[in-house]
Amino acid sequence: MSGAGSTDRVVVVGSGLMGTGIAHGFAAAGFVVTLVDLDGAALERAVASIGKIFADGVRLGKVPQAAAESALARLTTDTSLTAALTDRPAVLLVETATESMPAKVAIVKEADRLLPADAIIGSNTSALSVTEIAAATQRPDRVLGMHFFNPVHKMKLLELVRAVGTSDETIARARSWGEALGKTTILVNEAPGLTTSRMSAMMGNEAMYMLMEGVATAEDIDTALRVGFNHPMGPLELGDLTGWDTRLAVLKYLHETLGEKFRPCPLIQKMVKAGRLGRKSGKGVYEYADGQRIPGSGLKAR
Ligand code: NAD
Repeated sequence: MSGAGSTDRVVVVGSGLMGTGIAHGFAAAGFVVTLVDLDGAALERAVASIGKIFADGVRLGKVPQAAAESALARLTTDTSLTAALTDRPAVLLVETATESMPAKVAIVKEADRLLPADAIIGSNTSALSVTEIAAATQRPDRVLGMHFFNPVHKMKLLELVRAVGTSDETIARARSWGEALGKTTILVNEAPGLTTSRMSAMMGNEAMYMLMEGVATAEDIDTALRVGFNHPMGPLELGDLTGWDTRLAVLKYLHETLGEKFRPCPLIQKMVKAGRLGRKSGKGVYEYADGQRIPGSGLKAR
């Protein structure tokens, strides 16, 4: 078994929001990292963002300058997965490309052909079946879900997802890599919405039912969870941040797979039809100007 925190090589496929953070995490933990994306511009953006995270860490005194420099020196990029893996062994490949089953299946099939036999494939999928992704390979026992949170360098949770065929050894190795990255790992047997998306969808949906029924104002519902339960953000504020279109898609999927308790609140459906998607459209449950919430703008029940 490869020891965590060694100079083992990790390949991260997909250099968007999540791939950037995951590559940063492995480089910071001492791994040799190759970040792969079909889009060269996305790779350039990712390397610039990783450089900025390290620079901020140095400025704040959290990371020694020399450590940041050596981590960046261990990071390379490639636009071809074949080039990144041919004759260059890796112990782990983290797939974090666009959330599409055909894209993920194509990536893991190619990775399976090129990776050493004992290497592990982790998928950062939020909602797709890891069992289905694993079934596209000849090593389903060495495939698992590794679900990171955004922004990866600040969020400490890593949900490890056991697919039908994932072995105990694979889970143990993934746990040790998670610990090397300073994450707290939890283990989830593959299920729709895992633990986090399922819980967050349920709370956001219930908060919207309460708003629709006029139980309390949006501001008071959010204050209840922030102040009463010490949540960092209320469920309506969080929905505005996530986007109600995304939230609705998740709820529809959970409703389909887990049943009636996830029936999307009609107010969410109306808001999405009205284009009130949240921060990204300038209006959701609250209204925003220059990225700042307008005080007293919470949607009124009607
Ligand atoms: P993103 O759109 O920011 O980035 C996806 C990247 O994948 C793009 O740069 C794209 O060019 C690249 N890509 C697509 N097909 C590829 C291929 N065949 N080979 C190489 N690169 C390819 O997406 P994201 O938000 O970083 O999400 C990535 C994954 O992480 C998804 O599965 C998503 O569900 C999951 N996820 C997202 C979040 C989040 O908060 N955004 C949180 C946890 C998990």
